[in-house]
Amino acid sequence: MTDRRPAPPAAARVQAFAGRSRQSLGRELLRVAAAMAAVAAAFGLAEAAVRVVRDEVAIGGVRLLPAAALLYGVLGAATGVVLVAVRRVGAVRWPGVWRPGWHLAAGAALAAVAAIAWPINRGWLGDALSPMGLAVNGALLLIGVPVVARGLLPWCERLAGAAMAVPWLRVPVAVGAVVLGAAVPWIAAVVAGGGPGDGARAGGAGAGVADARPNVLLIVLDTLRADRLGCHGYGAATSPQLDALAARGVRFAECFAAAPYTKPSVASLLTGRLPPRLGMEPFGARLPAGELPLAAVLQAAGYRTGLFSANAFVAPTFGFGRGVERYVGPQVSPAAALIGFHVLARLRDAWVEAAGLPEAPWRWYEALVSLPFDLSGARHDPRAPELVAELLRFVDAAGEGAGAGAGRPWFAHLQLMETHAPYRPAPEQRIDGAARAEMELPEGAAHLFLPFRAAPPLPAAELAALNATYDACVRTADAAVGEVIAALEARGLLESTVVLVTSDHGEEFFDHGGFGHGHSLHRELLHVPLIWCAPERLPAGRVVASQVRLIDVVPTLLELLELAVPPDALVLDGESLLPLLRRRQEAEDAGNGQADVGATDRVALATVEWGGSSALALRDGSRTVIVARDGGAERVQCFDARADPMEQRDLAAGDPREAAAAAAIAITLETQVDQLAAERGAAPSVNLDPATKALLEKLGYAGD
Ligand SMILES: [Zn+2]
Repeated sequence: MTDRRPAPPAAARVQAFAGRSRQSLGRELLRVAAAMAAVAAAFGLAEAAVRVVRDEVAIGGVRLLPAAALLYGVLGAATGVVLVAVRRVGAVRWPGVWRPGWHLAAGAALAAVAAIAWPINRGWLGDALSPMGLAVNGALLLIGVPVVARGLLPWCERLAGAAMAVPWLRVPVAVGAVVLGAAVPWIAAVVAGGGPGDGARAGGAGAGVADARPNVLLIVLDTLRADRLGCHGYGAATSPQLDALAARGVRFAECFAAAPYTKPSVASLLTGRLPPRLGMEPFGARLPAGELPLAAVLQAAGYRTGLFSANAFVAPTFGFGRGVERYVGPQVSPAAALIGFHVLARLRDAWVEAAGLPEAPWRWYEALVSLPFDLSGARHDPRAPELVAELLRFVDAAGEGAGAGAGRPWFAHLQLMETHAPYRPAPEQRIDGAARAEMELPEGAAHLFLPFRAAPPLPAAELAALNATYDACVRTADAAVGEVIAALEARGLLESTVVLVTSDHGEEFFDHGGFGHGHSLHRELLHVPLIWCAPERLPAGRVVASQVRLIDVVPTLLELLELAVPPDALVLDGESLLPLLRRRQEAEDAGNGQADVGATDRVALATVEWGGSSALALRDGSRTVIVARDGGAERVQCFDARADPMEQRDLAAGDPREAAAAAAIAITLETQVDQLAAERGAAPSVNLDPATKALLEKLGYAGD
C-alpha cells in the first residue's frame, strides 16, 4: 500500500508476494476472504435475480436476494481461507512456481470447465451428485481445470501484473474477472431453463408429440376421509360439488392409500410404487433419484406440467418437483429454492452420513443463511383460492400456446390442505352449529400409535365440534373443486380433460382411540375417495365397488393416455383400472349388473413407520390384517372387511384359529415388505432448512 517505487521485475514481485505472506496473515485472510465472499455473493445475487425475474419461486422477491448473498457469500469466504492456505504453502514450498496470475487463471478455468460440464450433466448424467455424476464431474475438474488454467496463465499474468501495479485495482480486477468468467455461463444456463438441483428432467419438454392427448388434472384433497362425502353415504351436505362430479364420471367406492400420511402416500400415488420401494418415511427423505413421478413421465411425453401444492411435503425439496415446469407452494425459505441449497444439502449428507464428520458447521451455516427470514410469522401458506387462481393462470397460459409449447396438453397437480388440521373452514361453509371458525387437534399427536398408545377420550361436546369443523372444511375443499370444474367448463376444457379427485390419506376422530393421521393403518386413515371424470373417455355415473388402490392411478392414466410404462423398467406395483371398468361394463351390458365383486378386488398393502414404531396392513376385500410393532411388542389384528368394515371387532383376539391365520398372513406380509425394501438402496435425504422444518413440525410431524 505504501510502496511508491516503480513496479519491480517479475521475480522480485514473486519474492515480495511470498514475503508479504509472512508478515500479515490476518490481513491477507481478511482481504482474500472478503474478495471471495464478494465474488460468490455476486454470483448468488445474479442467480436469485434470474429466479425472481423468471418467477420461479412462490415467495421470495427481494427477500431472496439477501438469502442468496449470504448463502453463497459464506461459501466464498471459506473458499478464500482455503486459497490463502494453498497460496502460502505454494509460496513457501515452490517459491519459483507460484505466480501472481494463477488464481485468476484457476478461477477462469473453473468457470470454463463448469460451462463445458453443464450440457454433459443435463443431457447425460441427469444427477450431478450420483456416484457416476460425482466421478465424471470430479474427473472433468481435476483434468480440465489445470489444462485450461495453463492455457490462460500468460493472459492472466499480464492482467495480474497490471493490477498489481495499481494497488487499489488489485481486488476489483480479480473480483471482476472471476465474476465475469463464472457468472456469464451460469446465468446463461439458468436462463436456458431450470437448475441442476433436481435431477433429470426425464427427457425434457417436447420429447414426444402429444397433441391428441387430453389434459390431466389431479386434485388431491389432503387428509380427506372418503366416508365424509355425500356420494359415500354421509348424512351431512359436505360435498355437493364432488357428488356432482362423481355423477358425471366414475367413483371407486373402496380405494385405499398405501400409507397414512402425506409424503410416502403421495410418493406412491405419483409413482405407482409401494412405499417400501421408495423409503420416504424418514422426515428428511427425498424421492430417490431414479424414480419418475407422474409429472416427469407426462413431461417426457410432451405435456406442460404444474404443481400447485399447499403441503410443504409435496414440494421440490422432497423430489416432487421432478418434471414440474411451474411450481407454486409454501416455499418457506427462499434460500431453499436456490440451486445451491439443494446441492449443499446433498454435500452435507455426504459429509455427515457418508464421511461421519460432525454436523455442527452445517447447522451454523443453515442458521446464518436463515437470518434474513422471520421464521415466526411471515411464512407463506397458500390456501385454496390462491392455488386455484395460480392453476387457472397456468391452464390459460398453456392454452394460449405461444411459441414452442403451442398445442401441447397440460398436467396439473393441485394439492389442497383445506381438510388438514388446523381446521379453518370458510365461514359460509359451516353447515353444523357446532362447527368453529378455527380448531386445532388435541395436543400429543406425535405420541400416538395404535393399538399401543391411544389418546385420552375427548369430552363429547369437543369431539362434536371437531367433527363439525372438519365437515365444514370438507365443504370448503368441495367448493374449491367446484370452482375449478366450473372454470374448466367455462373455458370449454372439461370434455377434453381427465379430472381425477382423491386424497392421500384420511383422518381419525377417535374411531380407534386416536386422532389425526399417521399413527395407525385403520380404515379411517387409508380409505380415500377416488373419482375420475373424463366425459370423452370414461362412462358417466358409474360406481365401482371392487377394492382398488392409489397405486393403480398411474398405470390407469398411462393406459388411458396410451403411454408406455416408464422405459427405465421401473416395476409398477399398481395395475390399470381400465380392464376393471370394461369388465363391469361388459357385465352390465350382459344384464348382470352385480358382477362378482370379490373376484376383482385388488389386494391393498399399506405400511407406516411413525416415530420408531411401525405397522403393516393387508386388505384383500374380505379380511383386513394389521401387524403393529412398538419397541419389542408386536400385535396382530384381524377384521372381517364385509361384516365389520370400520374394524371394531378384532377376530384374532377371541378366536385362536383366526389368530393363527392372521399370524401366518403377517409373516408373509413382513417377508414381502422386506423384499421390496431390499430392492432399493439407501434412501437419499434432504437437509431441511430451519424454516421448512418449523413449518412441517407445525403440521404435526416430529423431526428426527
Ligand atoms: Zn396428507
